[in-house]
Amino acid sequence: MKKIQFNKLSKQDQTLINEAEKAIKNAYDPYSQFYVACALLTKKGNIYKGVNINTCAYGGICAERSAISQMVTAGEYWIKKIAIIAKSDYFKVKIHSGPCGICRQLIWEFAELTKENIEILISDSDKNKILITSIKQLHPLGFGPRLCFGKYKRYLK
Ligand SMILES: [Zn+2]
Repeated sequence: MKKIQFNKLSKQDQTLINEAEKAIKNAYDPYSQFYVACALLTKKGNIYKGVNINTCAYGGICAERSAISQMVTAGEYWIKKIAIIAKSDYFKVKIHSGPCGICRQLIWEFAELTKENIEILISDSDKNKILITSIKQLHPLGFGPRLCFGKYKRYLK
């Protein structure tokens, strides 16, 4: 796990964070006004984006699962990298906001499926410092499709 300046990232990583940032204006959270966006890069080179959607019962969906849902709907399953950015109407988000436990489990599903240690880039709200980590660091000893003897081969095309 390391933190680096945005301008020291590769162009590809900068693009992924910028794509997440572009989507964050569409996040839906009238209750806490805490907005999160995620952009993920697949092995095929496509970018899928998602934002958090909150409900009055606080039973919405996170940006990470929202982006993964877009990817799976398009028929892709191989994630290379994920970028996450968070903003609030009330304060600068300086603490890097990592994926919640439910999202870590879903990211792990595709990491174990493809044997890809998915890189995760987490940005503060101003893109000052970017925390770089991986799903193996965030979700050690994960339980996934290979342990469950899932019939997953058709998803590895
Ligand atoms: Zn989550």
